[in-house]
Amino acid sequence: MLAGLDPEQASAVTAPAGPLCILAGAGTGKTRAITHRIAHRVRSGEVRAGHVLAVTFTARAAAEMRARLGQLGADGVPARTFHSAALRQVRYFAPRLFAGREMPELLDSKARLVGLAATRAGLKTDRAAARDLAGEIEWAKASLVEPDDYAVAAAKALREPPFDAAKVGQVYAHYERIKRAQGVIDFEDMIRAAIWAIEEHEDVAAQIRSQYRHFVVDEYQDVNPMQQRLLDAWLGDRDDVTVVGDASQTIYSFTGASAAYLVGFKRRHPDARVVRLVRDYRSTPQVVGLANAVISRARGDLAKLRLELVGQRKPGPEPTVRVFADEPEEAAAVAARCADLIAAGTPPREIAVLFRVNAQSEVYQEALAEAGVPYVVHDAERFFDRAEIRQAMIALRVATRTAPGQEAALLDVVVQALEGVGWRPDAAPAGGAMRERWEAVAALVTLAEGMPGRSLEEFTEELSRRAALQHVPTVDGVTLSSLHSAKGLEWDAVFLVGLAEGTLPVIHARTPDAVEEERRLLYVGVTRARHTLWLSYAAARSPGGRARRPCRFLPALDPSRPATPAPKGTVAGRVKRVMAVSCRVCGTGLVNGVDRKLGRCSTCPSDLDEELLSRLVDWRARLAGVQKVPPFVIFTDVTL
Ligand code: ATP
Ligand code: MG
Repeated sequence: MLAGLDPEQASAVTAPAGPLCILAGAGTGKTRAITHRIAHRVRSGEVRAGHVLAVTFTARAAAEMRARLGQLGADGVPARTFHSAALRQVRYFAPRLFAGREMPELLDSKARLVGLAATRAGLKTDRAAARDLAGEIEWAKASLVEPDDYAVAAAKALREPPFDAAKVGQVYAHYERIKRAQGVIDFEDMIRAAIWAIEEHEDVAAQIRSQYRHFVVDEYQDVNPMQQRLLDAWLGDRDDVTVVGDASQTIYSFTGASAAYLVGFKRRHPDARVVRLVRDYRSTPQVVGLANAVISRARGDLAKLRLELVGQRKPGPEPTVRVFADEPEEAAAVAARCADLIAAGTPPREIAVLFRVNAQSEVYQEALAEAGVPYVVHDAERFFDRAEIRQAMIALRVATRTAPGQEAALLDVVVQALEGVGWRPDAAPAGGAMRERWEAVAALVTLAEGMPGRSLEEFTEELSRRAALQHVPTVDGVTLSSLHSAKGLEWDAVFLVGLAEGTLPVIHARTPDAVEEERRLLYVGVTRARHTLWLSYAAARSPGGRARRPCRFLPALDPSRPATPAPKGTVAGRVKRVMAVSCRVCGTGLVNGVDRKLGRCSTCPSDLDEELLSRLVDWRARLAGVQKVPPFVIFTDVTL
């Protein structure tokens, strides 16, 4: 178990029970050390797998952690996000907590109710304003700030609310009231409910505490007051807790996270052991050098906590900065480079394109589609919400009902059922959104292949279990991800795109603290690359658009290096139709949202009806045969 660890990592792995804090920079093996620590304790018989609770911040990071634990012979250790851990606990205790009633339904987007709350508070809001208001409400809830205290707390935290702070407080109060009246709860309420369940119910607390005895929190620099309170509730008066973090990777403080818990851990637990790691095992010295250069210019409180990384790997290629005329040109060049890397043997899943704002994803999806490169839009949390996966699961359930107890060749039964919804094992589209959907369904087939001897019914049950836990299968394709959800992960080749002022730092990062957070985001991005790192920006967003300045954090590199001319993509063969559909519940036009979020309104959680869904699926099936995959397909004349 200690093989493949350096002495500091080994000391963390073998440290006795009790509070432990690992403070270290990116790629130094923090996650490796804690997974080994868990496995070491489980395999030596010191603790039982089911008594451990490992928590991290994204579903993908949790999945990664489970995979690493499995490889170390410690499967069965729950590794979850704070949210999914809370959800499971609240769901389990729901009959006791909600007087025999079911758990209230979970809102998956605040936008609509916040819009309604704003109207009640006398504010006129468009989508962007509603989103900003929702952000303020999220911050307040994560910071344990009640509506009446919002204005004072926001001023203290130097927030820049989109409206007068007193008004925002009113919107927040209305929002809470509307939610209660409609009997729904939001993301933060779920964690609050778990806290309340433990703090107010002795029997629940006793049961949870006897179940979970050893806690491990990865990425602890990004814990918010609400999550810390949940952790405290889990712990009670015990202290067998390991936390790991890097203050230079604090990237969620705008939502209420605070590195203060990491920094103050020793103060809270005076007998805590503290382990520091500095050797970077992930990246080439060139990438490490760039990461150090980016973060060495940091200002503010967290800058003092910066840890210089020392690269351990063999040298690799120099990171490059490229400049392009506009975003489509930048995206085309990135896609072409991805295709080259894949042709030279890099598997698509070892490549990532990372951007600051999700809106940037679209142009890369188009470019990758044009170049015939498979990709996955990284939103692991949503795998089981994808329309094609929901369709596939319905088809599997129907097949289970019509052919119960099917045992022979699960491999075949699943494929047969999926063929019923237009999926063909041998008809992988060349790239783009179609390929992404095909790959997602293919991931289910691969999963079935890994479970020989099970019946279709058992397989379907297993899928439902995974859907509830968000245990996401791996899909092979170039990852398209925001910088935020890339944390903790690594790829052989990383493209950091859109490094222009206004995008990074993002336009609304106005305070010095906000700008520092953007710098840390770039640091997180740079440190995701093992080998190849390509940074780029476009001088203008659209062809002929207004000129932008390069990202201010790039002086460490020479941005005047001439760019390779971008290959011009062809628009021939695109299939494009126009659709006007509006959601029957909230009235939002689905014009652009429907292709990617097929089957679901992009604003409120309403489903499209079954009949429409099957027509759309039919369409997709027909398009699967089209060689040149359309970058986007918009449907016409559909009425809900
Ligand atoms: P981040 O801050 O990005 O979360 P981290 O500190 O958690 O990074 P890990 O993901 O645990 O770092 O490790 C980074 C990479 O280095 C992984 O590929 C891991 O397998 C490898 N690694 C870690 N420690 C060692 C070691 N002692 N020897 C060889 N490789 C190592
Ligand atoms: Mg990590």
